[in-house]
Amino acid sequence: MKALVKTKKGVGFIEVRDVPEPRPGQGEVKIKIAACGVCGSDIHVRHDTFPYWPPVILGHEFTGTIVETGPGCKLLKVGERVVAEPHTRACGHCYLCRTGNIQICPEKRSPGWGIDGGMAEFICYPEVLLHRIPDSMTWDQAAVVEPTANVVTDLLERTGVMPGDFVVVQGPGPIGLLAAMAARAVGAREVAILGTPGDVERRFKKATDLGFTKLINVAETNPVEAVLALTSGRGADVVVECSGAPRAIAGMVELVRKKGRISVIGLTGGKTVELPWDKFAFKVLDVFFNLSTSHTSWDRSISLIASGRMPSEQVITHRGPLSQWEEIFDAVENLKALKALLIPA
Ligand SMILES: [Zn+2]
Ligand SMILES: [Zn+2]
Repeated sequence: MKALVKTKKGVGFIEVRDVPEPRPGQGEVKIKIAACGVCGSDIHVRHDTFPYWPPVILGHEFTGTIVETGPGCKLLKVGERVVAEPHTRACGHCYLCRTGNIQICPEKRSPGWGIDGGMAEFICYPEVLLHRIPDSMTWDQAAVVEPTANVVTDLLERTGVMPGDFVVVQGPGPIGLLAAMAARAVGAREVAILGTPGDVERRFKKATDLGFTKLINVAETNPVEAVLALTSGRGADVVVECSGAPRAIAGMVELVRKKGRISVIGLTGGKTVELPWDKFAFKVLDVFFNLSTSHTSWDRSISLIASGRMPSEQVITHRGPLSQWEEIFDAVENLKALKALLIPA
């Protein structure tokens, strides 16, 4: 079968290769891949800035149809359509695994970097990590369940965005826009989105298409004044940080109200950030750091997307076969694409 493989350590070394079709082991099913999203981690593997074990097939945001069940499978059947929690090789016995947090088990090795991933015609995968999707769900919708599950975990389960909340999202990339949609889906009264001049042409345009009207270009409008004006001087109930930009991170304390909540999703790429620490204390803030997806966020995300309450699939801007991987990865890297999908077959 054809697969997109990171062949060895270093910058680059990605190619479409013919590799043997995998066979399902104990408790695994074989899935014919319908689509696989390109994630930041795939880009990091390309540039050698994320751990990985080559040669390895890229991609963890995959969806497809079960075509074979291995020995011992009892949960799923051939013909069912599924999406996959990428929490493979969690140990099952550490403190985190035993408390239901396999997604941050130190032993975890996910598809796409730790084990072979979904940018291929087939994958074999533990059935316990799969979720059935409804017949009505399109492949586009299914392919964005994983990034949606991230914001559902972060905003809805952990930070607890409530009906009536005024929410600020800083950084309108695919995750920022999904965060805005998640907040709106549970009844946020308003979602303001902050961006920089580079966001205006494509990302603010997409936010407008999605129905968001409070879009603030921080180079033109003082975001603190704008948010205070929109909240009768009180400040936002929740600030969601998706930019990873040190200046924006330091500034979020000015946007949020006293006793408000900050939800951190963006990463800086290892930069140190200086924070006005006492302001965080005097505002008595709850700050939530986030990583990966809870088990419960998956079925919630499937429900939110399938019902149309989160039109997550609208963040998809690019699609192509494996052979076009290079131009598609480039489009993601230079921000021409929001979410891009590879379609293996
Ligand atoms: Zn991802
Ligand atoms: Zn563990």
